[in-house]
Amino acid sequence: MRILVSNDDGINAKGLRTLWKSLTQFGEVFVIAPDQERSGTSQAITVHHPIRVDEVLLDDPKVKAWKVAGTPTDCVKMGLETLIDGPIDLVVSGINHGPNLGTDVLYSGTVSAAIEGALHDIPAIAVSLDTWHDYDFQPAADVTVRIIKEVQKKTLPPRTLLNVNVPARPTSELGAIEITILGYRYYQNTFDKRQDPWGRTYYWMGGEILDGDNAAETDIRTVERGAISVTPVHFDLTHYKILEQVKSWQLK
Ligand code: MN
Repeated sequence: MRILVSNDDGINAKGLRTLWKSLTQFGEVFVIAPDQERSGTSQAITVHHPIRVDEVLLDDPKVKAWKVAGTPTDCVKMGLETLIDGPIDLVVSGINHGPNLGTDVLYSGTVSAAIEGALHDIPAIAVSLDTWHDYDFQPAADVTVRIIKEVQKKTLPPRTLLNVNVPARPTSELGAIEITILGYRYYQNTFDKRQDPWGRTYYWMGGEILDGDNAAETDIRTVERGAISVTPVHFDLTHYKILEQVKSWQLK
């Protein structure tokens, strides 16, 4: 199997290193990641300036790696369309430092890298660790290996990815893998108004997560219980339930 590994935390991220090292057991691994952290960049692409690409020497000479002065989506696009010769069988993004739960997948660079793989009709997995503190990524990497073994036996439908969130716990304390739905993540955003040394005003966005009434089967509640959340995701955002209703509007 030939696997493309990417992320949004950048080429030097611990989660990326733990992931690619764990995936070499499956065959040939390629690593293409942003040259700096690009969290929260969603499906952004770079079209208005050049994209610098440099080969990176990892401590396993069999793993070819590049850092890209671009977004996670740029990385996967360039990997699949120009940097790597021959087909890729699986795209894995992560392991993100921090969760990607519920509606946050819409902002996530980690999930978007996997979406880009799925858009190329390649099975894809996004993996995130549910902590912003420093933590061992190996338990989450081991979970990813288990999931890939199952994905190898089954067939993911076209344009589908798995969004995986792993609680920050040692393997012995991790709950089971549960198949979940995306929840709704609310933020109370604060815009800290500050001044730069030249007296110009700038803002710094912060905020607090306010998880409202999410159902028990959502990814948010599942990870909260200490279980591993796996959500099958696709990106047809059409609201089928209200299609007929909107058709009846007098818009023509
Ligand atoms: Mn990130």
